Amino acid sequence: MLKIDNINVYYGAIHALKGISVDVKEGEIVTLIGANGAGKSTILRTISGLLKPKTGEITFEGQNIAGKAAQDIVKMSISQVPEGRRVFANMTVMENLELGAYIRTDSKGIKEDFDQVFTRFPKLAERRSQLAGTMSGGEQQMLAMGRALMSRPRLLLLDEPSMGLAPLLVREIFSIVKDINASGTTVLLVEQNAHMALSIAHRAYVLETGRITLAGDAKELAASEDIRKAYLGG
Ligand code: ATP
Repeated sequence: MLKIDNINVYYGAIHALKGISVDVKEGEIVTLIGANGAGKSTILRTISGLLKPKTGEITFEGQNIAGKAAQDIVKMSISQVPEGRRVFANMTVMENLELGAYIRTDSKGIKEDFDQVFTRFPKLAERRSQLAGTMSGGEQQMLAMGRALMSRPRLLLLDEPSMGLAPLLVREIFSIVKDINASGTTVLLVEQNAHMALSIAHRAYVLETGRITLAGDAKELAASEDIRKAYLGG
């Protein structure tokens, strides 16, 4: 579905991604794990069109998307939940969700997706008139995910959904990601919580300072001695 082929991405003089290649097959959860600053978010930002690779290709369902504008990439049904949620604090839950559907005109489909989001996240239904900025971190994460789902993505890019959340909520969020995937959405998940990410993913890539150092089946990686020592606390 998605093929990232040998991309190099820079922030000015900083060479953030050094020849990265990543594949995501339809139906998978693929996770990118690695320490702070390894380049995980940069990969997501490059897929979603916020950054342009200097060299290399990104194809989505056979079409080259590298360097396309972000709004065109959303229209191809790729949607990103950014790190730190980035909900619109002064808008209500409902208004945030409506913005997620701004590229769509099929009012019947939009209505169905509102119902689905409210079924998946009952808290959002209860709080539909609340200002997003007054919600808890976990609720804002749910809202950011709901907003992304309102564009009916086929590929969902999730950037550190567990950041700053209590362990119980982290488990809830990961279980929701698993459900979203089970109902047909392909997921590319960036996480520092390698343990949780590997527990729901099919495959994983390990990043170190802009390079992929390991890749493979998530269960096999979770069992590997090197990964346990480096990322799973022994
Ligand atoms: P984290 O989990 O801390 O977000 P990450 O693996 O997602 O880490 P990136 O945010 O992709 O890492 O950063 C990769 C590298 O690019 C780092 O060296 C970082 O300092 C640098 N970088 C990221 N954003 C910028 C920016 N806007 N300007 C300059 N350098 C940046």
